[in-house]
Amino acid sequence: MKFALVTGGSRGIGRGISIKLAQDGYFVLINYRSNQPEAENTLAEIRANGGDGELLKFDVSNVDDVNAVLGGWMSQNTDKHLEVLVNNAGITKDNLMVFMPVEDWTSVISTNLNSFFFVTKLLLQNMLLKKNGRIVNIVSLSGQKGQPGQVNYAASKGAIIAATKTLAMEIGKKKVTVNAVAPGFIKTEMTEHLNEDEMKRLVPLNRFGTVQEVAEVVSFLASSKASYITGEVISVNGGMYS
Ligand code: NAP
Repeated sequence: MKFALVTGGSRGIGRGISIKLAQDGYFVLINYRSNQPEAENTLAEIRANGGDGELLKFDVSNVDDVNAVLGGWMSQNTDKHLEVLVNNAGITKDNLMVFMPVEDWTSVISTNLNSFFFVTKLLLQNMLLKKNGRIVNIVSLSGQKGQPGQVNYAASKGAIIAATKTLAMEIGKKKVTVNAVAPGFIKTEMTEHLNEDEMKRLVPLNRFGTVQEVAEVVSFLASSKASYITGEVISVNGGMYS
């Protein structure tokens, strides 16, 4: 059995990724923060499709929580190697910087950026020792080109892109790859407040994307087919960034 962890795997893009990795044959650890019913729905769908997984509730922005819950799972399952990590959990708290409270800067940076360090650091050593690992970071078009109202979010995603490239250089010799996937507008709760009919005019493919379209790219990057790709950012944005 192959093992994968998807942070924020309970809803939206993370759910799509969890379901796809389960179809690819992984036992999926589905992390979530608070919405247990949605996490259970995701696991039920995986099981209905013949796959399996487990729910792991922890706050990715809290290092003590990450170490206690994820670290605890690892020490109770020393025979199981988490070979795929998808750092997907993320939040937005949009505002023009001039009006942005410091708490909204801090919480977005903690959830989207610090989480990458906390979670990846726990799994990295085993990946390096086993010379087997795939890390996929979900970033955003905002982190590539900037987006007014998203100074906090764009900074967190841009920093993850820089960390992706740097970590790829550090660990390539150990056959562990680290890549990023940068979605544009994808239909999830994060974008449900947007007027799709209006916003889709910005997209060359003239529609928002689906979670499955992001999950397919993550699945590819997690597979042996992507063995010579590392430090890369792959856009899934309908042609918005060109
Ligand atoms: P979403 O529908 O709001 O789902 C967010 C997921 O992250 C949920 O499973 C949530 O768990 C989890 N989560 C949030 N904070 C967490 C924390 N502190 N600890 C653990 N889990 C946490 O968001 P989404 O649209 O799927 O976005 C997923 C990723 O894609 C994010 O990194 C986002 O920045 C990125 N992205 C999304 C879009 C888009 O258009 N949707 C575009 C570009 C990039 P709970 O349900 O328990 O809260």
